[in-house]
Amino acid sequence: MRQAASRIVKRALLDSGHYNRQLQRDAFPGVAVLCYHGIRADDWPDGTMTFEGLHVRSGELAAHCRLIRETCHPISLAQWHRARAGGLALPSRPVLFTFDDGYRTVFTMARPILERYAIPAVMLVCSDPVAKRRLFWYDAMAQARGETEVERAKTLAFDEWQTLEATWSRAVEDADPNAPMTVADVRTLADTPGIEIGGHTAAHPILARGNAEQQRSQIARNKECLEDWIGRPVTAFAYPNGRPGRDYTAETIALVKASGFETAFTTHTGFATSREEPLECPRFLMLAGISAAELAHRLCYSWRRPRRA
Ligand SMILES: [Zn+2]
Repeated sequence: MRQAASRIVKRALLDSGHYNRQLQRDAFPGVAVLCYHGIRADDWPDGTMTFEGLHVRSGELAAHCRLIRETCHPISLAQWHRARAGGLALPSRPVLFTFDDGYRTVFTMARPILERYAIPAVMLVCSDPVAKRRLFWYDAMAQARGETEVERAKTLAFDEWQTLEATWSRAVEDADPNAPMTVADVRTLADTPGIEIGGHTAAHPILARGNAEQQRSQIARNKECLEDWIGRPVTAFAYPNGRPGRDYTAETIALVKASGFETAFTTHTGFATSREEPLECPRFLMLAGISAAELAHRLCYSWRRPRRA
């Protein structure tokens, strides 16, 4: 009841232009990096795919893009790199869209929406499922055993996880809503103006569970594979699961740096400010059900930030 009332109030504040006016007076303390995963068609029935909360509706994404285009400043990774290197300063409300994992729906549904609103983005792609046309291990396991089993598998030692990953690996149909991109999709995305391809490991392990060599192999194999496909350097990375100290460690960061990545994203919540290490950029997780009004409210109020001096 309270939630429904809050939704109505936020919708009214959006429609009245309140959030627009509020944002136009505002300056973010850093980059608002939005973290998406897959996209779901608006008419795709509820309860028929795994981890559906991570797959926002295409209509929701379009509404987010429209809001950000009208009230903030969508930036590209290249623009951010240039600003960090001492080039042109970023605009006052910079927003960077990122999409983790490499779901095919990002190619089929997100790409046209991003193009419609001229929004740059970074797609952080796991290469093994793309190269082998296999489901992501966690989707395959969740389809067979349920999502709880996946959470348990994430706590296993690396070797045990690797055995499970091989056990659950299975071929995928292009029409499966959980399907990964194809190599051709990755290439087309890389050739789309404003879109960059980043790394997300070869097979999406919890890196913190592996030794240095196991981690290095997952990070480097992914980078080499993506660079081979798209013919240019891959400079951004996202840690699978992404929680600092739990899913990746200081050793992981050093390995990511040694592999030649310049920017890496976590799932820690916050604006990415210039005070932080570029290899631990926090983000805001975007889940299904976040309306444009809710996103506007969070940008104005909930994602509280210290006042600028
Ligand atoms: Zn991921």
